[in-house]
Amino acid sequence: MAKFDFDLITIGAGSGGVRASRMAAKTGARVAIVEQSRVGGTCVMRGCIPKKLLVYAADFAQDFADAKGFGWDVAEPTFDWKRLIANKNTELDRLEGIYQRILRESGVQLIIGRGVVAGPHAVEVAGKMVTAAKILISTGSRPHLPDVPGIEYAITSNEALDLAELPKRVAIVGGGYIAVEFAGLMQALGASVSIVIRAGNILRGFDEDIRNALAEEMEKQGIKVHREGVVRSIEKTPDGYSLRLHGAEMIECDRVFYATGRHPNTEGLGLEAAGVKLSEHGAVKVDDYFQTSQPSIFALGDVIDRIQLTPVAINEGMAFVATQFGGRPTPMNYDFVPAAVFSHPPVGTVGLMEAEARKNGPVDVYLSRFRPLKHTLSGRDARSMMKLVVDRASQRVVGVHMVGEDAPEIVQGFAVALKCGATKAQFDATVGIHPTAAEEFVTMREKLPDHDEDA
Ligand code: NDP
Repeated sequence: MAKFDFDLITIGAGSGGVRASRMAAKTGARVAIVEQSRVGGTCVMRGCIPKKLLVYAADFAQDFADAKGFGWDVAEPTFDWKRLIANKNTELDRLEGIYQRILRESGVQLIIGRGVVAGPHAVEVAGKMVTAAKILISTGSRPHLPDVPGIEYAITSNEALDLAELPKRVAIVGGGYIAVEFAGLMQALGASVSIVIRAGNILRGFDEDIRNALAEEMEKQGIKVHREGVVRSIEKTPDGYSLRLHGAEMIECDRVFYATGRHPNTEGLGLEAAGVKLSEHGAVKVDDYFQTSQPSIFALGDVIDRIQLTPVAINEGMAFVATQFGGRPTPMNYDFVPAAVFSHPPVGTVGLMEAEARKNGPVDVYLSRFRPLKHTLSGRDARSMMKLVVDRASQRVVGVHMVGEDAPEIVQGFAVALKCGATKAQFDATVGIHPTAAEEFVTMREKLPDHDEDA
């Protein structure tokens, strides 16, 4: 008789947990997965997928406006937010069904309820104890709200995806991924959007030229960016809310939306009592193989707070399974993880930003700003920006950055080249596809004057 009920119990059926569980089951392991909410987790139910569906809706607003220059006369388009949200929810139900089926067909037992670690090999779910040789924590993250008077009036991305109406005036606090994505889509769908950022610019952690190019495009669309803005309080007013900033500035709006980062879901999980050490921000501390300070307990995805991206969690899940169930110790390689921001226009990025690359030695920078061909006829005042960062000594391309239509689709391909160590000469030797925006990355010949040498 087996010593434990299962070989693996996973807590959290999001992207990382589901992938790890079904891959472990494929090796013959007996696996259970515990979920307190919906199978699919943040990305599928409250993040990437519903957000992207709303981004598509927003793209249509721009397409209708662009069509005129191409000979189309379209009757004044009208937009039905409720229909969009209903259709989005139908799709999420379908996806949840698929995830449940995948687990079932993989032989993973789904246990609905809140799982709490009750020891190195035990998880309690709804008063019942389940045991396993190994426990995997993949409980993800949740929106973090700072302590501001009136914060109870604020919504987060969870609620923004299910609003009954599209607000007329939205104030978004934060300047990261979620803030700029929702600012773009809500403005395009007809809201009047203000964003309040405590820093001097949006998207900290991205290349400076990306930050500047995107901020400029967003402001052209009418999004108001309040820089170095600190919210003092949020007050309810007869017709909405009032955001009081430091200084005398006030922002009147119908919705206050906070997108000020996400914190790991570790509270009340029994982790510390089970000997699992957490960081000061509450993230589970793990080694290169996702093992915590309690050898039978592992963790991956947003809850370890390394890179909060779905494909990273999925890859961490595969590395964990290879190590623990495949006999192949496999650390996760975090080099050249590409990322996209589905703003309007979107951002695609892989590798080092210029400032980071300069810390390793001299760099060559190639940058192009141009009006996309489509907008010569559409008349839309939009510009794209593309940038290559090249390590001067090795001539390896170490950073590819783009703001502009299709940037995420384009940069995904270039991420392969960077992973393979491609040099600028190899980029130059690659024939472009004409006419595309992507060809710019293989036809940039003029480097920018060197800032270091100018200094
Ligand atoms: P981010 O970490 O991207 O951005 C947080 C923003 O909030 C920053 O602008 C930060 O300012 C600001 N901020 C933090 N604390 C405060 C505070 N107390 N008061 C005012 N402003 C504050 O978080 P998001 O919530 O946007 O997204 C969470 C994560 O989810 C992302 O980091 C990303 O990993 C993931 N994600 C990925 C997406 C994608 O792949 N397309 C889409 C959405 C989310 P400052 O810059 O000054 O620190």
